[in-house]
Amino acid sequence: MSSLQAILIVEDEEAISRVLAAYLKKAGFKPIRAANGAEAMAYFEQEQPALVLLDLMLPDLDGHELLARIRVTSACPVIMLTARDGIGDRLAGLNGGADDYMSKPFMPEEVVARVNAVLRRRPVWTSDESRRLYGNLVIDFAAKQVLINGAEVELSRRELALLLFLAERPNRIFTREQLIEQVWGMDYDGSDRAVDLSVKRLRRALSHWSPEAGEIRTIRGMGYQCWLKE
Ligand code: CA
Repeated sequence: MSSLQAILIVEDEEAISRVLAAYLKKAGFKPIRAANGAEAMAYFEQEQPALVLLDLMLPDLDGHELLARIRVTSACPVIMLTARDGIGDRLAGLNGGADDYMSKPFMPEEVVARVNAVLRRRPVWTSDESRRLYGNLVIDFAAKQVLINGAEVELSRRELALLLFLAERPNRIFTREQLIEQVWGMDYDGSDRAVDLSVKRLRRALSHWSPEAGEIRTIRGMGYQCWLKE
């Protein structure tokens, strides 16, 4: 028998937290309740939840800040819960790597439905060694698959090869000539402008990758690197 998927509920309003936990339990999950950011981080490490429901206004820190801390090491799906419904907050949440966003008041049934929807969108996290996490970006080197916030990123074969090559060798700088040789192949005889174009397309495809986790950097006068926060 497989164990239940844990859902971490980060919410300081006792009544809401309790109701959400009851509904999630009924839906077959293992709810874990945290009433502030510090508790949330401790439970997050301990329990490795399948998903986090995150209230924006917490007594000790802002939900956006907590999301950023989670995203340093994990692509675990996060649904933001909030009393605010301004477009600014919504965008900040989604740009910060939230997978979905719900404004209060909400029906607990709808929260459960969104939890299921978000979990269906992404594979359950495994300790598979071919898979690496770069903030909200996941690269599966064996399956040659790239995910951002759980959604697959569409890349051409060349862009994918370029990303895999750079991401496997993080923080190292490669010249255009080296990249042509490694990614395009020795028999390529076009211009090295091809590298610039592919990098441009790759960056566009990775535009939802959280910039504090990593990025494809241009090193002036030298070439490119996949910069990663270690
Ligand atoms: Ca609150």
